[in-house]
Amino acid sequence: MNTIHRVIVIGGGLAAGKTAQALRDDGYQGAITLIAAERHLPYERPSLSKDYLAGKSSFDDALVHSADWYRDNDVVVREGTTATSIDTVGHVVRLDDDSSLPYDKLVLATGSTARHLSIEGADADGIHYLRTLEESDAIRKTFGAGKKLVIIGGGWIGLEVAAAARAASTTVTILEGGKLPLLKVLGAQVAQVFTDLHTAHQVDVRVDVKVEAITTADGRATGVRLAGGEIVSADAIVVGIGVVPEVGLALAAGLDVDNGVLVDASLRSNDPDVFAVGDIANQQHPILSHRVRVEHWASALNQPAAAVSALLGNDATYSELPYFYSDQYDLGCEYIGFVAPGADHHVVVRGSLADREFVAFWLDSDCCILAAMAVNVWDVLEEIKPLIVSHSPVDPERLIDPEIPYARL
Ligand code: NAP
Repeated sequence: MNTIHRVIVIGGGLAAGKTAQALRDDGYQGAITLIAAERHLPYERPSLSKDYLAGKSSFDDALVHSADWYRDNDVVVREGTTATSIDTVGHVVRLDDDSSLPYDKLVLATGSTARHLSIEGADADGIHYLRTLEESDAIRKTFGAGKKLVIIGGGWIGLEVAAAARAASTTVTILEGGKLPLLKVLGAQVAQVFTDLHTAHQVDVRVDVKVEAITTADGRATGVRLAGGEIVSADAIVVGIGVVPEVGLALAAGLDVDNGVLVDASLRSNDPDVFAVGDIANQQHPILSHRVRVEHWASALNQPAAAVSALLGNDATYSELPYFYSDQYDLGCEYIGFVAPGADHHVVVRGSLADREFVAFWLDSDCCILAAMAVNVWDVLEEIKPLIVSHSPVDPERLIDPEIPYARL
C-alpha cells in the first residue's frame, strides 16, 4: 500500500464516484483524479429514465456526491476531460488537452454508449438517445398531450421512457424488433406482463417490426418507415436499442478485452495495476462460476469497494449477484441472479401474473434457481438470494406455494 501514491479513475459515472469514495473509506491517503468526459460531477443514471425524466426529482438527487464531498476528500474531478490513451508500461494516461497524468493504479469505469441506428434518416433532428442528463432533458421536452412519441426498442429504456411519457399524456408507440418487449431477458410469460402493462396504459406496443428508415422533412424526423412500407408518424423519436461497452481505451492499451474488459474475481485486468468496474467489467464471478458483464446500476454501485480493496493489496473479490430494478407506472420490480439473454429456461411463478403481483423464478434443468424477479412484492430478495447462491435443486411445486416460507426450501 505504501507504494501507491496516485490513483486515476477514468469515468464520470456512479462507478467512478464510488471508486473515489471506496479509496477514502479504506484509508488511502494519496492523490485521486477522476477523468470525467461529461461536464458534470459523477451522477447516477437510473432516474434519467424514471423520476428525473418524469420531473419528479432533481439532478442534485442523482449526484453520487456533492461538490463539497470531492473538495473535503481531496478528490480532483477533471470534468469535461477525455482520456485519449493509456501507457500501461510507463503508467501514464494521456488526456485530450495533450497533458499526461502518471498513475500507480488505474481504475477504468468508462461505462457504455448508446447503440445508434444506422438506417436512412438516422441523423435527422428529433431523434433522441438516452444516456446523459442533457439527453433526458431533451426527451422530457418532447412529452405532452397531443404529442406523438415513437420509441424504437422495447428494452428497459424504451419501457421506462414510455411510462414517463404516458404520465405526461403523450401518445406513445413502441416499435420492438422481437416478438415481445424484454423477451430475451425475461422469457415469454413475464415479458407478456410488461407488454400488457403498457397496453393497459394506452401504449401502442408493436412487436416483430423491422424499422427500415426514418422519414424526414427539412432535416427533421417525421416518422418511422417499417418493412412493408407502413409509416408510423412521430413528433419525436427515442431510440433504446441497447448499449456498447466503452472498451476502446482498454483495447488500445493492450488489455484483454472480450465483451468488456476481462477481469478476475477481484476486478483486476490482465495488467495487475489496472482494474475495471461497472458496465465494462467482464468479471470471472466467484459464485456464478462463469464470466458475467452486467449493464446495471448495482454493479456500478457495489463493485468499486471490492476493486479498491484488492487494489490496496487485500484479498478481496466481488461476489454480489447481479441485481437491477425498474419502475413503470404502478409496477415496481427487482431482479436478482443471472440468466443468459435468450436462454430457454423453465420459469415458475409464485403469485399472480394477471394481478402483476408475483415472484418469478428461472430454473435450470436440475431445478436450481438461476434468477428471481419480484414484481410488486417487496423485501423477499434477501430470503431468495441464498437459494440462488446454494445452487441446490428445489421442488418447483413448493417454490411456488405461497404458504411455504423461502427459508424452509
Ligand atoms: P436493452 O435493454 O438491451 O433493450 C434493447 C431492446 O431493443 C431489445 O428489446 C432489442 O431487441 C430491441 N432492438 C434492438 N434493435 C432494434 C431495432 N433495430 N428495432 C427495434 N428494436 C430493436 O437496451 P436499452 O433499453 O437501450 O437500455 C440500455 C442499457 O441501459 C441496457 O444495458 C439496460 O440494461 C440499461 N438500463 C437498465 C435499466 C434498469 O435496470 N431498470 C433501465 C434503463 C436502462 P433484441 O433483444 O431482440 O435485440
